[in-house]
Parts: sequence; structure tokens; C-alpha cells
Amino acid sequence: MRRVAEIASYHAHVYFGDAQEAEAARSLRDAVADRFAVQLGRWHDEAIGPHDRGSYQIAFAPDLFAMLVPWLMLNHGRLSILVHPNSGQVRRDHVEDCLWIGPRLELIDDVLPEHEDPPEPPPVPNTRPTLDA
Ligand code: ZN
Repeated sequence: MRRVAEIASYHAHVYFGDAQEAEAARSLRDAVADRFAVQLGRWHDEAIGPHDRGSYQIAFAPDLFAMLVPWLMLNHGRLSILVHPNSGQVRRDHVEDCLWIGPRLELIDDVLPEHEDPPEPPPVPNTRPTLDA
């Protein structure tokens, strides 16, 4: 069996297509920043990496999972969000060992390496939460 300790951190990737989804994704981003000590990644209007449309990344420590993921479940609206562990097995992490909030989307998985080297650095929170989740 694999051990949970293999998971160094998690990512939540929030996707958007048209302008309406982008606006919803923007408000969700602000609401996350107001409530959680996470590392918010850059906003990408274009497809990047394995993602086939606009997205941004929320990187977070394992101890936030039990609060942040249920909060995203309740607040994603119609957006699709990919939540995946960072265990060093990059392709598995994204494709096989992930979970989706909202409709599942296609990933361009052949751009993902099997293993990550060097490993994903731990998330450094860049938000200043002031609200309760
Ligand atoms: Zn990721």
C-alpha cells in the first residue's frame, strides 16, 4: 500500500472557458484568497500544460484539505475543478489519483512526465485570509 505521507501537497486547478466562466473563476479566486492560506498561481487565459482551457492553480498543504475541498464543493458554482495530490508521480497524480468537482474535463496527459524531478516545492501561502470558511 502507498502511504498518505507520500502526498507532499495538493493542487486544485480551476477551469474556465467563456467570459462568464472567467468571471465566476475570478470571484472564486478572490473568495479563496479571503478564506484560506494557500498559494494562488498565475491566471492563465490560455491552455497550458495538461489543461485544455484557461485555468489557475491553488496549491495547498495537506492539513488544509479537509476544509478547502468541501468549501470548493459547495462554492464552485458551475466550474470544473481538478484536485490532485503531489506525490512525485506526476501523471498518476493528475490522471488516475485525482478527483473532480463539477464536470470532468479532458487532460492532455502526454505532456505529463511519469515522475517529477526535482519534486514540487512546498506551497508558500500568498494570501491573507480574513474570513471564516
Ligand atoms: Zn497541478
